[in-house]
Amino acid sequence: MRLVPNQAFAWMNVPIRLRPAGGENAFCVSNRVTPVRQRRNDPVNTSWSKADLHIHTNYSSDGTASVIDILEYVAANTDLRVIAVTDHDRIDGALEARQIAGSYGIEVIVGEEVSTVEGHMLALFIEEPLLPHCPAAETIAAVHAQGGLCIPAHPYGWRVPSMGQTRLHERCVGPDCEWPIDAIETFNAGLWLARNNVQAAAVARQLNMPGCGGSDSHHLPTLGLGDTQFPGTTAADLRAAIKSGQIQAGGMQWTLGHNVEFIRRWLVGQTQRVLRPSTP
Ligand SMILES: [Zn+2]
Ligand SMILES: [Zn+2]
Repeated sequence: MRLVPNQAFAWMNVPIRLRPAGGENAFCVSNRVTPVRQRRNDPVNTSWSKADLHIHTNYSSDGTASVIDILEYVAANTDLRVIAVTDHDRIDGALEARQIAGSYGIEVIVGEEVSTVEGHMLALFIEEPLLPHCPAAETIAAVHAQGGLCIPAHPYGWRVPSMGQTRLHERCVGPDCEWPIDAIETFNAGLWLARNNVQAAAVARQLNMPGCGGSDSHHLPTLGLGDTQFPGTTAADLRAAIKSGQIQAGGMQWTLGHNVEFIRRWLVGQTQRVLRPSTP
């Protein structure tokens, strides 16, 4: 998610609770109730851990929390073992986070929410920043060339640049498809319309694609609201679980209070940037 001026009041949607048909795989979301998790190949006798795969620091123009504040908050207030820092079109915040995360007992995946022509995509396990505003097919190839994973972000998000609105369900079919992605973000805690996650989960099932979850956090109180659970404890375990489809996505949507607080912190940050004296 990225806040732009003409969306400033779009967060005032009424919370929606949906329970689609689908038995055990049904995916229930609301802004207050923890959903039934998507289940894929549940392993036996394996300990599972939690990761938040979609986090913005204040290196993003619309992020409000510093790297240190995020690491301190995650260590003190969540049970996350792994986080991915995914700022908009840059990785310097993620690199900084990875460098100091060890002292907080957290493992950081370097990621980027890269803006492609067809919508936002999470690139995880990368080492070099990606060029924004390229066709998604080119960006996917660039991510894979450096050993990373590609995950369309909030693919059916309302009024956010989303790959689901540009024929994701057709472009990811088959071994020689146009978009050879690795997973789909099927739970994004920051979406204004919770039903858009239901739509993403349905398409992931249709494509037999693993579903990831993340908070899309832009301020501290939303960290960990969306998560990806995986067998094991490390980022390497998580990567293997994504590749084998052994992950579960879930969490709870940002509440109205979270949205109001985000707007407040964002406005404070913008005001401070304007008022900050420029250095000669
Ligand atoms: Zn986004
Ligand atoms: Zn985001």
